Amino acid sequence: MIFVVTRVLVLGAGFGGLELSTTVAQACGPDVELTLVDQADGFVFGFSKLDVMFGRTGPEQVLHRYTGLAGPGVRFVAATVTAIDPAARRVETTAGPFDADILVVALGADLHPEATPGLLDGGHEFYTVAGAFGVRDVLDGFTGGRVVVGVTSTPFKCPPAPSETALLMHEFLTARGLRDGSEISLVMPLGTPIPPSPEASAAVLAAFEQHGIRWYPERLVRALDPARRVALLSDGGELPYDLFLGVPVHRVPDVVAGSGLAVDGWIPVDPRTLETAFPGVYAVGDVTSVGTPKAGVFAEGQAAVVAERIVATVRGGTPDAQYDGRGVCYLEFGHDQVAKVDVTFRSGERPVGGLEGPSTALVADKTAFGTDRIRRWFGRDWIPTA
Ligand SMILES: Cc1cc2nc3c(=O)[nH]c(=O)nc-3n(C[C@H](O)[C@H](O)[C@H](O)COP(=O)(O)OP(=O)(O)OC[C@H]3O[C@@H](n4cnc5c(N)ncnc54)[C@H](O)[C@@H]3O)c2cc1C
Repeated sequence: MIFVVTRVLVLGAGFGGLELSTTVAQACGPDVELTLVDQADGFVFGFSKLDVMFGRTGPEQVLHRYTGLAGPGVRFVAATVTAIDPAARRVETTAGPFDADILVVALGADLHPEATPGLLDGGHEFYTVAGAFGVRDVLDGFTGGRVVVGVTSTPFKCPPAPSETALLMHEFLTARGLRDGSEISLVMPLGTPIPPSPEASAAVLAAFEQHGIRWYPERLVRALDPARRVALLSDGGELPYDLFLGVPVHRVPDVVAGSGLAVDGWIPVDPRTLETAFPGVYAVGDVTSVGTPKAGVFAEGQAAVVAERIVATVRGGTPDAQYDGRGVCYLEFGHDQVAKVDVTFRSGERPVGGLEGPSTALVADKTAFGTDRIRRWFGRDWIPTA
């Protein structure tokens, strides 16, 4: 009898890579040799960045270190991917080369605060782990004033996150007795806070109104003028600020840009199967132009479908799992209020999404969302808040 072991190589241990690796390794056991490569120390949920920034928890508490990740069947390699040859399914890394029978690119989106003039000198970004953790100290010393939360380009991860940041900023300044002497403004390229869900958008806009948060839709922050402390907007307007918190420019990692996989900035995939133009090469999550927002829940949903397809292939069947574009997002309103939006994006159709909450009951739901995943991916229990 001949045993054939399928070499599955997963690049990126974020939302997509972790979900995919865990599922495939569990289902296939010794029939696959699964290698997962990432250059970071560990995984951090996007929403944990906001929790750390606003002092709800500490940086160590939200960093899920990859050390000891190697569950049954997953070989974790701590390395930077330096080259991808998708035609040969060969990858170069700082830990040496890897060849794959099935390659999955889940490298996410890289963030470029330096691409926005003045942002590094005159403001702060809160989308990288280091940036969000750094803002925690900035907020600690903030004595109030004009706060501007602004998006600098599209597409950007987790479209609700800037709105959540504005609402959490209101809670933070209120708790510190600084709200009366402060203004909060939000600059967003979108026409509504949560475009696929008019109900969720209405709830967010009502909260803005209630809390006196100024909403500047359908524009971007193109640059900051640190000398004058003003944000320069894409519509020609200017917004003065004392504290600027920006969502930086997103791009595919350089190694993806140099691989020939990306077209017009992102990796095109079949929206049902997540296959790229190269046989045996899949891409999931933020690195793609699949048509869903760049968010962990969608990366995870895509990874689950690719995992099913890989399992079918390994078992000698024909993969038939298809992605349905569905994801459930939690929305922070501050003051212990969380809402849940259930959205479906289907290629060629208008996206639809319903709203539950906001309510205190959904806080526990959101916590369970995080702890379930950490148990599934890392085999550990997690207490998210300090
Ligand atoms: C403030 C904020 C709040 C958010 N809130 C939510 C939320 O509530 N819900 C939600 O669903 N999403 C949320 N998101 C979005 C979510 O974090 C991302 O969309 C999600 O992580 C994307 O998953 P991914 O697997 O595509 O990429 P990622 O999770 O970004 O993983 C990519 C991995 O690739 C690795 N990598 C990149 N380049 C290399 C290289 N050259 N070599 C080796 N490794 C490399 C990185 O280290 C990283 O671990 C939020 C994001 C932010 C910034």
